[in-house]
Amino acid sequence: MAQKRITVAIDGHSSCGKSTMAKALAKRIGYAYIDTGAMYRAVTLYCLEKGMIDGDKVNKPRLRRHMPKIEISFKVNEEGKSDTWLNGKNVEQEIRGMEVSNKVSLVSAIGFVRRAMVEQQQAMGRNKGIVMDGRDIGTVVFPDAELKVFITASAQVRAERRYKELQGKGDTTTTFDEVLANVIERDRIDSTRKESPLRQADDALLLDNSNLTIDEQNEWLYNEFLKKVK
Ligand code: C5P
Repeated sequence: MAQKRITVAIDGHSSCGKSTMAKALAKRIGYAYIDTGAMYRAVTLYCLEKGMIDGDKVNKPRLRRHMPKIEISFKVNEEGKSDTWLNGKNVEQEIRGMEVSNKVSLVSAIGFVRRAMVEQQQAMGRNKGIVMDGRDIGTVVFPDAELKVFITASAQVRAERRYKELQGKGDTTTTFDEVLANVIERDRIDSTRKESPLRQADDALLLDNSNLTIDEQNEWLYNEFLKKVK
């Protein structure tokens, strides 16, 4: 008998390895993987390019008018990895930099931005067989997901991981303290915003991965997945 196809929702704090884990699971079980943070990052890049952000103020009326012009998609590259595209341009590298990281929580707190992204995410997951990661997947996007996981780790550990990742990408200007401050500030804004704040869904499994290796957390998630499809 064919295994039933389910929806896997992975939420959690910034830089806690959600996407690493979600990607590995999707590959192993042959599901599509959607990085919803990349979508909010792409909208933020668009705002920055159009000069719509001044300090911590986003020009909302202008952004609202531009929303229909913002087209975000994912395309698999030659290495088999999914890249984020914004209006016909591959923006995968740009959306991961500190300029976008420093502003993304301002943009993702805007109600009309969230509604537009959630609508697209729900369409992508309509047929199940999807692993989606973000902040509100188990609470808002797919409240009926069969497997929900909420991941966290200490801010120090998360900043260390993100700092290493940035260095690996050749960023020699960002300091560790800047990364730590960004992780803490994004958590604060994401958890206290009015529109679908970051919180653990009542029926989500909690995983603190501060002391787990990537392999250990991947195995844990795979086992939880098996329990749901058996
Ligand atoms: O997952 P990532 O760290 O790339 O997400 C970037 C930002 O996008 C988060 O800090 C949060 O502000 C926003 N986000 C969100 N809802 C999601 C995914 C990301 O608000 N589902």
